[in-house]
Amino acid sequence: MNIKFQCPKCQTELRQDSIENAEQLVCPRCKKTIQLKHFPEADPKELRQCPVCEAAHLYIQKDFPKKIGIGIVTIAGIITILWDHRYYIALILTAIIDFLIYQKCPNLTKCYHCQSEYRNYIHIDRDGFDLNLHERYKNKELNV
Ligand SMILES: [Zn+2]
Ligand SMILES: [Zn+2]
Repeated sequence: MNIKFQCPKCQTELRQDSIENAEQLVCPRCKKTIQLKHFPEADPKELRQCPVCEAAHLYIQKDFPKKIGIGIVTIAGIITILWDHRYYIALILTAIIDFLIYQKCPNLTKCYHCQSEYRNYIHIDRDGFDLNLHERYKNKELNV
């Protein structure tokens, strides 16, 4: 399992592989250590709670690179202009490309509380993004 998240102190983006075996993460910039909490009762590859902040609410989303998404929109825009504003052709093409990429795209899991992203582990059955939960974490109604 690997992690991507922001250092809570200096906001540097950190990435680390194989965090199953790590006790802590160290920020390369400000040297802050972040303790990882593991839950031994669960399968180590199953992520039930966030190892960084211990939040129990996580959601899955497609690991879809934003750059590709923007690229598709740009290409669609160019096609629209070149093809005499027959925008529906571009729309259909975009939808098809989106669909194909989406099918091939793996999932990642994200924490509502600290925004950490987790990849490469057994994904347990989990819901997608829930705006209500997101707002409750943001407004500190839910905490860890
Ligand atoms: Zn830092
Ligand atoms: Zn978290």
